[in-house]
Amino acid sequence: ELLAPELESETELAFEGALRPSSLAEFVGQVKVRGQLQLLLTAATMQGRTPDHILFAGPPGLGKTTLAMIVAHEGNRPLRMASGPAIQHAGDLAAVLSSLVPGEVLFIDEIHRMARSAEEMLYLAMEDFRIDIMVGKGAGATSVPLELAPFTLVGATTRAGLLPNPLRDRFGFTAHLEFYGDEELERVLSRAAALLGLDIDKAAIAEIAGRCRGTPRIANRLLRRVRDYALVYSTGTGTADVHAVRAALELYDVDALGLDRLDRAVMEIILSRFDGGPVGLNTLAVSVGEEAETIEAVVEPFLVRIGLLTRTPRGRVATAAAWQHFGMQPAAARSM
Ligand code: ATP
Repeated sequence: ELLAPELESETELAFEGALRPSSLAEFVGQVKVRGQLQLLLTAATMQGRTPDHILFAGPPGLGKTTLAMIVAHEGNRPLRMASGPAIQHAGDLAAVLSSLVPGEVLFIDEIHRMARSAEEMLYLAMEDFRIDIMVGKGAGATSVPLELAPFTLVGATTRAGLLPNPLRDRFGFTAHLEFYGDEELERVLSRAAALLGLDIDKAAIAEIAGRCRGTPRIANRLLRRVRDYALVYSTGTGTADVHAVRAALELYDVDALGLDRLDRAVMEIILSRFDGGPVGLNTLAVSVGEEAETIEAVVEPFLVRIGLLTRTPRGRVATAAAWQHFGMQPAAARSM
């Protein structure tokens, strides 16, 4: 899926690696978070201590992993990458924690998916740089304290609400990443195009920015398809212009607002079958053949954010902009 905000493949991971900014100065947008991080990191460096634990919260593809790498890079510290779903037992976490070197940055992606027993071990590790290891079984089991090297935990989560309070409270700083505005996305795209050696004009950049759902990962992915298109069809010049962008993205079903198939199915059902609504969430989910949770957590936030849909107590309602975007009219207007 070209518009899915999650990472799609190993190839994409390698591609992203090449485009990842490695310093705060190169990181585009998120101005507030950048300022807050800069202060936190500089103060730690001045005092010669490890920076406080940091939590990055926000939707996929907005730069959480990139920022974790920057935290390590800016402080010239080694980085260890781990992921919540891979930590199924406290022992998995103990193995990682006990092998950290002083000052290391430990990044745990999807930290909300870690096992509960590991979470509890992490509380003590974050607070006192210590863990208790259970030795033996049954009545003879004893807990042996183990000192850890001071480290900085950087957690990333798409679901900050799912983190238990004791864990959330142990982060010295929580950054909420926001979707990017058009101008910021244009800067992300210009930077990526330069790194890829792609010749692309301003209007073409703006056209991609408008279709990438406020998400740098999607911006970079669309840019790749545009690069292919320019390579194959823009004979001679290899330059990507706005026509190349439109043709390339049309080929991949990415419309002018960056709606994907499911977004469009939801909107078309509200407009054509329910005359613009209100429609209840469950009715809508059954009509498009999708889980209500997916509609609510993935599809609707984007549709609401770009002003095509409103959520009312009586159900979901299409806005005037939605009628316009889909080139349709409500029944009352049609009969006039
Ligand atoms: P996930 O939660 O799915 O792991 P993420 O929030 O960690 O996503 P990243 O992997 O950090 O997202 O970023 C995805 C891609 O977008 C990377 O290629 C990165 O280089 C690019 N990117 C993200 N934010 C920025 C930014 N502010 N400036 C430039 N490039 C960015």
